[in-house]
Amino acid sequence: MDVYTDVLVIGTGVSGLYSALNLKDNLNIIMISKGKIDECNTALAQGGISVARGVDDVDLFVEDTLKAGAYKNDVTATRILAEESIENIDTLCKMGFDFDRTNDGLSYTREGAHSINRIVHYKDKTGKELEETLLKQVSSKKNITIFENCTMLDILKKGNACAGALCTREGVQVSIHAKVTIMAAGGIGGLFRNSTNQKILTADGVAVALKNNIKVKNLNYIQFHPTAFFNNNLSDRKFLISESVRGEGGKLINCNGNRFVDELLPRDVVTKYIYEEERNTHCSNVYLDVTFMKEDFLKNRFPTIYEKCLENGINISKEPIPVSPAQHYFMGGIEVDTFGKTSMENLFAFGECSCTGVHGANRLASNSLLEALVFSKRGARKINNDISTIPMINLDTPSLDYNEKYYKNLNNKIFIESLVKVRGDIKNELVNC
Ligand SMILES: Cc1cc2nc3c(=O)[nH]c(=O)nc-3n(C[C@H](O)[C@H](O)[C@H](O)COP(=O)(O)OP(=O)(O)OC[C@H]3O[C@@H](n4cnc5c(N)ncnc54)[C@H](O)[C@@H]3O)c2cc1C
Repeated sequence: MDVYTDVLVIGTGVSGLYSALNLKDNLNIIMISKGKIDECNTALAQGGISVARGVDDVDLFVEDTLKAGAYKNDVTATRILAEESIENIDTLCKMGFDFDRTNDGLSYTREGAHSINRIVHYKDKTGKELEETLLKQVSSKKNITIFENCTMLDILKKGNACAGALCTREGVQVSIHAKVTIMAAGGIGGLFRNSTNQKILTADGVAVALKNNIKVKNLNYIQFHPTAFFNNNLSDRKFLISESVRGEGGKLINCNGNRFVDELLPRDVVTKYIYEEERNTHCSNVYLDVTFMKEDFLKNRFPTIYEKCLENGINISKEPIPVSPAQHYFMGGIEVDTFGKTSMENLFAFGECSCTGVHGANRLASNSLLEALVFSKRGARKINNDISTIPMINLDTPSLDYNEKYYKNLNNKIFIESLVKVRGDIKNELVNC
């Protein structure tokens, strides 16, 4: 089957939805999601979204981001992130995002390696609220159509110009031809045994880039979150205990009950200390202790975490939470400029599958949703300006010589092989390795 559209957006997380909302209403837009529409990491985000506390905070916000990223960040992109943070949070407020508030305005919390409180949030369900807010806006747009359970297997291309994507939906091959294609296909956690990510997110965007010689960057930069709920079941997605729990005062203790680290150090540093502590104490996990906080506060501030731990037999107001690190975020990805433009003509990439360079070697907490907002809006504006000069490339419908399973295995193999070349040390963390 052949379908034609002005813009194809691969992914319905924050980067896909927000880019579509920032495209002009007179463009036809098709969005696809591999699973259900909200089966994405965006809907799982707990902690919140970073935002500069006014223009006076921009320099400090940039410095915090660079420091956490071990100064491997792209400085220009990082400055754009901080400078454009405020207008994007304002936009979300106008869309009706229900941020937590105090009498003075928005409520700002703190997370590891931020010098001040600058994370806006909705309880511990920021991502769910964000996904729902954006989906509501998208569903009111007549020019946007969403195909759920539609998997991109490869891009369509002519020379170095992208012309859409080859997809499969309920066993039927669909070629979606587009003047501009946006890759917003998210992270890589589905390829890891222990990850906080949705299982269906298997680095498809980056794999397809590798396969088509589109430039990628920083494949070795993978973030392990220090505090995922510990259990022995490897087939489970690991439930995250948000950094904001430590931001509100939660203490890390080892299995002998002793504190061993400053909880608000950058994620990679805390993760390293936890692994060391687990080795030294011969215990498979450490604990996050919030038992000194009032039960009412915990129930109200962290309702999801409270409930989820209770389901797993832990009342967090009475006993410490067993935690251990798990794969969480991919700082590398498809190389893009500050408008999300890739090295292939007519192909943009936003969100976790892209690499703007803002995170350097280690992402500062709550900078991911912000990065997706800032750069997908910038990219959408560039597409709005340029699209009238981009013709639809006429391609013969490619015949799918191989089945869906073949493509999926091939994509996984391409990504894993490239990853292991630069990060041999994490080979054992990967599934099927
Ligand atoms: C548990 C958890 C908590 C987090 N908390 C925070 C937080 O508090 N603050 C913060 O800033 N960040 C947080 N993050 C990170 C952040 O949520 C993600 O980095 C961000 O949501 C990524 O958005 P995205 O749009 O790039 O991808 P996603 O939201 O993951 O969406 C990816 C989309 O791509 C689609 N897709 C993938 N492959 C294909 C394919 N082959 N064909 C078709 N569609 C495809 C998927 O179906 C999905 O719709 C958290 C992440 C996790 C896992």
